[in-house]
Amino acid sequence: MKPIIAANWKMHKTAAETTEFCRAIRKEESAFSGVETLVCPPFTALAAASAALKSSHIKLGAQNMDYESRGARTGEIAAFMLLEFGVEYVIIGHSERRHQMGEDDDLVRRKIETALGAGLKPILCVGETEAEREQGSTEQVIKKQLSGALEGTEAQHISSLVVAYEPVWAIGTGKAASPEDAENAAALIRGYLQDRFGSVSAAGTRIQYGGSVKAENIGSFVSLPPVQGALVGGASLEADSFSALLKAAGEAVAN
Ligand code: PEP
Repeated sequence: MKPIIAANWKMHKTAAETTEFCRAIRKEESAFSGVETLVCPPFTALAAASAALKSSHIKLGAQNMDYESRGARTGEIAAFMLLEFGVEYVIIGHSERRHQMGEDDDLVRRKIETALGAGLKPILCVGETEAEREQGSTEQVIKKQLSGALEGTEAQHISSLVVAYEPVWAIGTGKAASPEDAENAAALIRGYLQDRFGSVSAAGTRIQYGGSVKAENIGSFVSLPPVQGALVGGASLEADSFSALLKAAGEAVAN
């Protein structure tokens, strides 16, 4: 199973900038063929990314979606609209949405259910805040987020799921978690999935680390046995820094 590295561009890039980025990164893609790569542009740039990545191995993800399949939901985007552009993955429950837009575990659960039902692969984000870490409740927080998000999910769907461990204090701060912290959290997530869905089904789920990942530190995360990839914000915004990161990840997993 290849590690999966996802670029989360958040609220950055126009359609024209997206085209430019995708063209640049495509030129390098043979150098990171050992890594499954995807870009998650804003909704308004999905069409541009889809066109620029046609017949490339680089895949497309979305940063969010609605839990309803269609209907009177002004401003929302449904799964079928993402599928139209060849979107394969969708980030669900990112901490910015949980903390800034008030998304709770139940909303995250509904989105996961809808995404899986539509054939999209969710990247479920979990992780503790700095205060929760200081209180020693990291494990409890992660387990609660997992059980809330995956209530009702059937084992047959679990290999389509990616779980991103993203400690909130590490996102966009330049202060990445230590490999030991990432390893412990990923092992906890793996253990939870095995207990809940059985080891055979859970073996197909990849667990990413996210939080201030860059070319210089990606190797220390993807070489940890329980970690199979990364969710990358800041270092994915420039084609040069993202392709350097992908090459470093490819080299680390090949060794
Ligand atoms: C993220 O947005 O999920 C993220 C991990 O951001 P950054 O890499 O900038 O910390």
